[in-house]
Amino acid sequence: MYIVMLGAPGSGKGTTAKILAKKTNLPHISTGDIFREQIKNQTELGKLADSYISKGELVPDEVTINMVKVRLSEPDTKEGAILDGFPRTKAQAEALDKIMQEQGKQIDIVPELIVPDQIIIDRILNRATCSNKECGAIYNTKYKPPKVEGICDVCGSKLVTRTDDNEEAIKNRLEVYRANVQSLLDYYKEKKVLLSITPKDPTSESSSEQVADEICHFKEVC
Ligand code: ADP
Ligand code: ZN
Repeated sequence: MYIVMLGAPGSGKGTTAKILAKKTNLPHISTGDIFREQIKNQTELGKLADSYISKGELVPDEVTINMVKVRLSEPDTKEGAILDGFPRTKAQAEALDKIMQEQGKQIDIVPELIVPDQIIIDRILNRATCSNKECGAIYNTKYKPPKVEGICDVCGSKLVTRTDDNEEAIKNRLEVYRANVQSLLDYYKEKKVLLSITPKDPTSESSSEQVADEICHFKEVC
């Protein structure tokens, strides 16, 4: 089962992807997370990626596509994966199809999360993430605060704010998202795998759980 999550930054697609990964026992592949890990380890790829990410721009297609290709050749992705943040451009979508075809796989479902801008901006500006990579829990200091300020409820690690979660970069990320998403929506609609979801109450704590359930029920995948 291969699921491709679509949604603006801050739409909740990362949180939903994590829940789905748990429910299906499939790996969660977030290109943003992989880039951030590379940046932390100061690899060549990380340095290159950082020069784009810090401005809210996309990392070039060939770099990103190559990275995903390598990841999708790893054995834990054999039965499927939850892709989060990839593809982001039509060229990436076409490249993904090619990778999948070569490996005799196919994309089963592409959920698209529709969330109003105001909520998105508010969410990103109040976002805090667990610094422990194994955990990666996401909090909202306004709607879903941790029990102790700055500390992860789940594992006790420090919470951090992403460097690209500032107003300037967010605006740019939203613009980049809009400029690319329509071609992806058209692409997957034609393949009859698109599932558009408008979360009923996107600010509620259980919103991502509800969205994940909806995706699960759609194709009885979990
Ligand atoms: P968000 O959805 O909040 O923007 P992500 O963690 O998915 O966050 O991505 C963070 C940044 O990483 C993006 O703004 C972009 O610069 C880079 N990135 C992630 N995925 C891709 C991709 N598929 N293609 C190009 N750049 C990407
Ligand atoms: Zn944690």
